[in-house]
Amino acid sequence: MDEKTKNLVSLLKRGRIVAFCGAGISAESGIPTFRGEDGLWKKYDPTVYATVEGIVYLLIKSPLSLRDFIVESYQIFLNAQPNFAHYALKKLEDKNLLIGIITQNIDDLHFRCGSKNVAEIHGNAFEFLCRRCNWRIKRTPKELESFIYQLKKEKSKWRIVKGILKFLGRCPQCNRRLESGIVFFGQQLPQKELERSYQYLNQAKTLLCIGTSGVVYPAASLPYYAKERGVKIVVINPEASELDEIADYLVREEASQFFRRIIPFLG
Ligand code: NAD
Ligand code: ZN
Repeated sequence: MDEKTKNLVSLLKRGRIVAFCGAGISAESGIPTFRGEDGLWKKYDPTVYATVEGIVYLLIKSPLSLRDFIVESYQIFLNAQPNFAHYALKKLEDKNLLIGIITQNIDDLHFRCGSKNVAEIHGNAFEFLCRRCNWRIKRTPKELESFIYQLKKEKSKWRIVKGILKFLGRCPQCNRRLESGIVFFGQQLPQKELERSYQYLNQAKTLLCIGTSGVVYPAASLPYYAKERGVKIVVINPEASELDEIADYLVREEASQFFRRIIPFLG
């Protein structure tokens, strides 16, 4: 074992680890990253498809392209399975070495592999919620699959809009139309998830920043908050990122490659 690996292993063995994850950890599960070459966002302009105003505009003016976007993105989420890196974090939690995961991802993969303490600061694509009274429901993959199946077949604009609104449904408590649980660009981060993130960071000794470019704010401010508190920062990313400047350990590897190398030393 080289010196850097030795130091990293002893750091991780001290426990009180928090993970801060971005799209890169799910890249090996087949979900394209935001800025990656094969990114969905090369095809669908995020200033339209990842904002509430844009989606409302599409619903009225261009339901067919909104439909294509919904079908394409949910097919990606539905086909994805957690990879070695997701399972490694679950293992660290089971061993009481990891306090929690703060994720920018909306793909549900941490929960799907059994991790318990997860703060989803950008929401969850499987969740739908009432923005008046906060009632929420998590749809099963099966429910989403059958919605996508129906939507895909539909040719009439009117029936597409009707199908989307029917699937969203209404709040059983206050009758308001339910909305996607995804936090779109320009929307506030969910207060509870943010509070939980700070709780994790306030107890942390080590922060693993995994697969994030560190350019999406306010999320990207969390590693800086940790750094100021003296938390050791480990950046795991095969490419350069904004967070490199605060890294105590810079690991230029894919997430699963890193964990395959490190996990055997953690017992
Ligand atoms: P990003 O796309 O801006 O950056 C991804 C980073 O991951 C890059 O720096 C890249 O070099 C790195 N990377 C690629 N493959 C990797 C691997 N195998 N292992 C480790 N690192 C790898 O992602 P971001 O910083 O999370 O910001 C994008 C925003 O878009 C997020 O806020 C997120 O909400 C959203 N998003 C989510 C998903 C998802 O849920 N899986 C996917 C795409 C985008
Ligand atoms: Zn409600």
